[in-house]
Amino acid sequence: MNDKQQSVRLGPNGKPVRYFVMPDSLSGKLQVWRYLLLRRAVQLGLLLLFFGTVNWDWKIAEQPVLTGNLSSSELLGFLPLADPFAVLQIMLTRQIPQQEVLIGAAIILAAVALIGGRTWCAWVCPLNMVTDLAAWTRRRLGIKDVFILSRQIRYTVLALTLFLSALTGVAAFEWISPISMLHRELIYGIGAGWIAVIGVFLFDLFILRNGWCGHLCPLGAFYAVIGKVALLRIAFDTPTCTHCGECAKICPEPQVLNIKAASVAGMIASGECTNCGRCIAVCPEDTLKFDLRHHIQNQQVPNTTESQQRRAA
Ligand code: SF4
Ligand code: SF4
Repeated sequence: MNDKQQSVRLGPNGKPVRYFVMPDSLSGKLQVWRYLLLRRAVQLGLLLLFFGTVNWDWKIAEQPVLTGNLSSSELLGFLPLADPFAVLQIMLTRQIPQQEVLIGAAIILAAVALIGGRTWCAWVCPLNMVTDLAAWTRRRLGIKDVFILSRQIRYTVLALTLFLSALTGVAAFEWISPISMLHRELIYGIGAGWIAVIGVFLFDLFILRNGWCGHLCPLGAFYAVIGKVALLRIAFDTPTCTHCGECAKICPEPQVLNIKAASVAGMIASGECTNCGRCIAVCPEDTLKFDLRHHIQNQQVPNTTESQQRRAA
């Protein structure tokens, strides 16, 4: 038992406050890292499918496995997939995307509404591996923020991106997106885009914690707006929570872990949650877990009224 665990502080539920301790055993560590490992498997697996199709001509039943890029792609030669934010920008330039691109965007929108908007950020976006590395490194080195910036600024960047797309006739974010640049570098190996990727890494490392994903990225902001209604949520079991704060310490979007609001809603209701699962892994009381919105709401105590839940959301 470490010093923190010997604390006699009691939580609001009357139970002793315990803190997260990394297990010594490999199986214990794997249990803690389970969502991290799964996320990396999904992120790298998708990149491998793009890479293998382009560079090694991967096919299934004579059809290319995954062609295109993160803005617009095609799976197995028949299933279009498209980034709805990119499509929205294109439409604001007064161009009409091809029908399959519109269908692809509708498919991703439906998936996002089911699984959670910013799930894309933590489970698919390749830049997440870069920003996670920066966050991990700055925790190790104890680097402090150079300045404070409101996380709401991302919604201004989102609005500005859409406005500039309409004004200039060019899909604004698609031109400068470090996400697209990283994807192009990894799949096609062109070269200059690494400058933007390294810039994001250094910004997150030395200037601002979670600076890009948590403050500036308009794609993350777009998915946060849509993610508000998503079905997959982090459920919150109020009676077990001791307010130890371990979840907020590890969370890349700590403002979403408002314990009072989570208690009322029975879940993390904010669309800014990325469903990364870090909080689940470190919670010593198993207070948090993945669940579906309607299941959580059905389990909520009867004295938590619907209007209270809406306010918490
Ligand atoms: S939910 Fe957060 S504050 Fe509550 S016990 Fe778990 S880690 Fe601690
Ligand atoms: S609340 Fe949990 S799942 Fe959501 S972003 Fe924070 S750590 Fe990740």
